[in-house]
Amino acid sequence: MKRFKLALPTQIIIGLVLGIALGFIFKERIAWVEPFGTAFIRLITMIVVPLVFSSLLIGTASLGDPKKLGRIGGKTLIFFLVTTIISCAIGLTLTNLIKPGSDLPQETRNQITAQYETDTDARITAFAEKPSISDILVNIIPRNPFNSMAQATMLQIIFFAIFFGITLTLIPKEKATVILAFFEGINDVMIKMVLIIMKVAPIGVFALITVIVGRFGWDILMALAMFTAIVVFGCLFHMFTVLPLALKLLTNTKISTFFKGIFPAQLIAFSTTSSGATLPITMDCCEKNLKVPNQICSFVLPLGATINMNGTSLYQGVAALFLAEVYLPGGLSIVDQLVVVGTATLGAIGTAGVPGAAVILLAMVLSTVGIPIEGIALVLGVDRIVDMFRTPLNITGDAACAVFVATSEGLMDSVPETKPQAVQEA
Ligand code: ASP
Repeated sequence: MKRFKLALPTQIIIGLVLGIALGFIFKERIAWVEPFGTAFIRLITMIVVPLVFSSLLIGTASLGDPKKLGRIGGKTLIFFLVTTIISCAIGLTLTNLIKPGSDLPQETRNQITAQYETDTDARITAFAEKPSISDILVNIIPRNPFNSMAQATMLQIIFFAIFFGITLTLIPKEKATVILAFFEGINDVMIKMVLIIMKVAPIGVFALITVIVGRFGWDILMALAMFTAIVVFGCLFHMFTVLPLALKLLTNTKISTFFKGIFPAQLIAFSTTSSGATLPITMDCCEKNLKVPNQICSFVLPLGATINMNGTSLYQGVAALFLAEVYLPGGLSIVDQLVVVGTATLGAIGTAGVPGAAVILLAMVLSTVGIPIEGIALVLGVDRIVDMFRTPLNITGDAACAVFVATSEGLMDSVPETKPQAVQEA
């Protein structure tokens, strides 16, 4: 008799649904499953630094000629920038139309602010330690690449890996081949490790979601229902209209095939709220399901996980305007709103793809346009929930960019309609 086995993405969905249900039923009493979720996140995060380094190095070296690399790098950055700006503008437009902050009762506001005061102080301190934009740019150059790897400072790792990859093409071929083969081996091992780890993803996802649902303060969600709804709607809107439109216009890809292919990574992004931790799965989905050539995936996706954040920038637009409605009598002028777009776009580049990173970036955006940064207390309570929609959008934007770059370089026709294979076999 044939053994019946559910596909891994289906198992993950079951874990997710079960997690939500049990979290609702058992609340704090199910918190004991938390270590399973933490262990899962640690397992996939463990892969990220060696994977980013080896894959970027291979990607850069295999692109070979610096002119081609410059062209691909340019296309990647332009796609990232344009989509990030559009998403922030969508957030601002929705908030301008709906004005979710204008009728928030003073009493509710005080109550929520008091409740999240301590947490907010921690974020404000983190923001105060955050360097300026020019510092961020200089800090991209590592003093010691091993230190960057030890600290998982992604932009520094990216810089060193790309530099290493370019230089590899400039030394004698017989030596370069050995080094390349070594890193290709490391890369293969990392990908295999991801596939093995993904076997326990249903349990990890179940544990992560149960704890979130069990602990979540649902009354806060009610008070901030409109704010939350705008972020969630905005993320879904960008994901299902702007990105598909870009793919249709630029690549001739069948949209349903694209979404089917990237779906497993979206599920992991939803549960972990970290595009960094999701990167290994995003890469697997893009290569195996969307058939984006390895040299493009290994270049575009590690970069995207760190610097491209459509969801995060959309959130900046909504949150800044929402808090301006609450705290500033006149709201934000058009010029201020443009400043929000600029700061959110640039800030997202220096922000790591980790849970809740957007809140620290928000502190920077708020202070630039003169909104009291203590205001983040008001939105902190629903941050995890909205992060669960920001992060899948972030990684979907990266994948769309990879498809765009590969097609525009003539390396693929469009996403072929084959059965998804990623995250299936180890
Ligand atoms: N959690 C997001 C990510 O990892 C960043 C954020 O919006 O907080 O992409």
